[in-house]
Amino acid sequence: MADLAPHAVSESNSLGRLHPERAPTARSEYQRDRDRVVHSTAFRRLEYKTQVFVNHEGDLFRTRLTHSIEVAQIARTLARAMHLNEDLAEAIALSHDLGHTPFGHAGQDALNDCMREHGGFEHNLQSLRTVDLLEERYGAFDGLNLTYETREGILKHCAPKKARELGALGRRFIDGTQPSLEAQLCNLADEIGYNNHDVDDGLRSGLVDLGQLDAVGIWARHAAIVRHDYPQIGGRRLIHETVRRMINSLAVDLIEETSRNIVAAGVHTLADVREAPPLAAFSVGMHAEHRELKHFLRVNLYQHFQVLRMTNKARRIIIDLFGAFIEDPRLLPPQYLEMANTDKPRAIADYVAGMTDRYAIREHRRLFAVGEI
Ligand code: MG
Repeated sequence: MADLAPHAVSESNSLGRLHPERAPTARSEYQRDRDRVVHSTAFRRLEYKTQVFVNHEGDLFRTRLTHSIEVAQIARTLARAMHLNEDLAEAIALSHDLGHTPFGHAGQDALNDCMREHGGFEHNLQSLRTVDLLEERYGAFDGLNLTYETREGILKHCAPKKARELGALGRRFIDGTQPSLEAQLCNLADEIGYNNHDVDDGLRSGLVDLGQLDAVGIWARHAAIVRHDYPQIGGRRLIHETVRRMINSLAVDLIEETSRNIVAAGVHTLADVREAPPLAAFSVGMHAEHRELKHFLRVNLYQHFQVLRMTNKARRIIIDLFGAFIEDPRLLPPQYLEMANTDKPRAIADYVAGMTDRYAIREHRRLFAVGEI
């Protein structure tokens, strides 16, 4: 890749793959990672997994697949502008949500509750488990055998107790070092992505309205510019013109502040990045505005009674499914029944976490709807 900064991840400073493989001929190692993710089963499932709205609530809402593509777009822009490894940023972004349960955070929280006595459930760790273990595509190994740097980026956070089980990959959560800049930026690209598309989806759903958003700093500032430039504008065009400005201003601010941090910390190599404090950051002012937006969405969208009704039902589905399989694992499909022989709760969590929204709803119906025997 041309013109990489000296502190970028490159193939020459890569820590490689768990199972050594011959170098690819026409692509970089990180392009290969991306390609493996795009061809995986877990990636296709993202199309039918929710962010905020359940998949069948409307055709135009974001799903985890469109969210991941939007995050990859933002991450690539950030990486290219900062002369970092764009292929790596793309690979991390496209895989960052692979371990998500059906029904978004409601599903993750419910499954975590079910797994409380059995090591817990965390979607970040599940993403890693998916690419390291659960995908079945290669003769020589389980999982996708991705590079260390992509795996490092997928594992955004991890409790120290779990980290100790992960060897080199977990070490940074114990000794307080940082991942690559590509990984740090993907993390913030994720936030830029979901906060902005949740504004768009929230308005589309009618659960929040423009009047409410005009009280939110970052929205109000950009909407005022749009209304000034296009006095007649309204409806969808006002929303899109405002959202695109918010995304752009967040991305540009992130690039500028992170670049300043790199200089201020005297960072010259990838090793310096890992040793330095976190470098990827918004400026103080932008950080405050971004937090205000997140708070707005939490109170007005994620905790809207109509969303809570959905998440409550989703929670029940996950708990019912888990309970039925724990009680009688013979109800599991054969592949998971076999896995259950070694670790029953974990095999059930893997099965449930892999489900799409509609698969979980159907499976629930198959197991519990008496009229359907
Ligand atoms: Mg995400």
